[in-house]
Amino acid sequence: MAETALLARCHWLLKARWVFVAALAGALALSDGGLNWQRHTAPLWAVAAFIALYNAGFTAVERRPKFCVIGERRGVGERIAAFVFVQMALDAIALTVLLGYSGGIGNPIAFFYIFHVALAGILLSRRLCYALASLATALVVAVAIAPLNYGFLSGVIQDAGVRRPEWPFVVAYLAAFACTMYVTAYVTTSVAADLRKRELELVSTAEALRQTSQKLAELEERKSLFMMTAAHQLKSPLAAVVSLLQAAGTAGVSPEKEKEMIARAVERANGAVRQVQELLDLARLRSLDPERQARKVLDFREVLDGVRATIAAQAEGKQVKIEFQAPDRAAWVEGNRDDLFVAVLNLVENGVKYTESGGTVKAALSPADGGWQLVVSDTGIGIPQAALPNLFKEFFRAGNAIRRKIEGTGLGLSIVEQIVRMHGGRIRAESEENKGSTFTVWLPRAP
Ligand code: ADP
Repeated sequence: MAETALLARCHWLLKARWVFVAALAGALALSDGGLNWQRHTAPLWAVAAFIALYNAGFTAVERRPKFCVIGERRGVGERIAAFVFVQMALDAIALTVLLGYSGGIGNPIAFFYIFHVALAGILLSRRLCYALASLATALVVAVAIAPLNYGFLSGVIQDAGVRRPEWPFVVAYLAAFACTMYVTAYVTTSVAADLRKRELELVSTAEALRQTSQKLAELEERKSLFMMTAAHQLKSPLAAVVSLLQAAGTAGVSPEKEKEMIARAVERANGAVRQVQELLDLARLRSLDPERQARKVLDFREVLDGVRATIAAQAEGKQVKIEFQAPDRAAWVEGNRDDLFVAVLNLVENGVKYTESGGTVKAALSPADGGWQLVVSDTGIGIPQAALPNLFKEFFRAGNAIRRKIEGTGLGLSIVEQIVRMHGGRIRAESEENKGSTFTVWLPRAP
């Protein structure tokens, strides 16, 4: 951003210099032809030509396509600043020669140096601005002490009765000049630094605003996608319930068939209720502000005990062995007991659900990384590699689970991930199809 502005100013400086050269040439042509002054304008023409020459050179450099490549490499800003500084230094030298041949320090154009110092204060660094102020002062001192004959203005000056200034005047003049240069440098660099700071603040605020609005737009998009998927997912069990009940009610259906259809309708309706419940859970968890949650320090082993008791019958019914391992000492974590219970239950329940009879589901808790690590592993159907990145997305179900017609909503792992995140933890899944899956949850230790 700053580089682009500097480049624009650099371009402007080159243009302004052409205007100056044109004005100088015009004035010299006028004085040569019109006015009856002594014709000592040759050195001044030479200065004009010198300025035109280096300006043409700088313009050519500036037009090179590579010169404008910004933002890709570091140090481009410094390069442009150095480019501008060299131009300004040459301007100062040209102005000094001009001054030397046109009346010395008595010529008011001596104050033209102020423009450059002020411009350097705005465009360049503090260091370069002071360097230019020092250069201008040194050059004017040189003009003041050099044995000049006032060049082509000498006639005018002598005609006007002006003499070479006395030393006390020269010293006072130079002191005033140096003061003007350094005060200009100080004021402009201070104001520019302040402005730059505010500009940076504005830029970062604008960037923060842009990011926020982008996040809001993404959130809105995710929200509507979520709503659409939720409605779609609910539609299928409800449509199944309607068609089952309609079929059961048609004439000629045997009582057994009718009973079976109603049982299937109840099963599908229960699935829909479960889905609504999970949707509500997820919405509730997402609406919570983790910072404002009432949290308690609790022993994570107790959560595991609760899950073991809840899952035992289900596992036994399916003939899946469950093994729990926990450390002997308390595993303190800070959080919400009910939510942590839901998360662990979901993982262990999935293990049982996606493991065939004779398989095993293990839940092992151990200290790790300054916190607690719970590894829930099973010897079940596994998850295809391609499905792993999408596992924690709402409504996502892996193809192998769907093909086997294992009931599910695809919401459980989203809920688990949300709970783990709210507790400052992390979760990851590893799996090999037909071999089993491992979910690793890490939670920070209670402070
Ligand atoms: P649900 O189990 O209700 O479908 P989840 O969000 O709990 O929803 O799981 C999402 C998907 O991840 C499941 O549909 C299944 O494909 C896969 N999955 C989760 N846990 C396991 C597991 N232990 N073994 C195999 N697949 C699993």
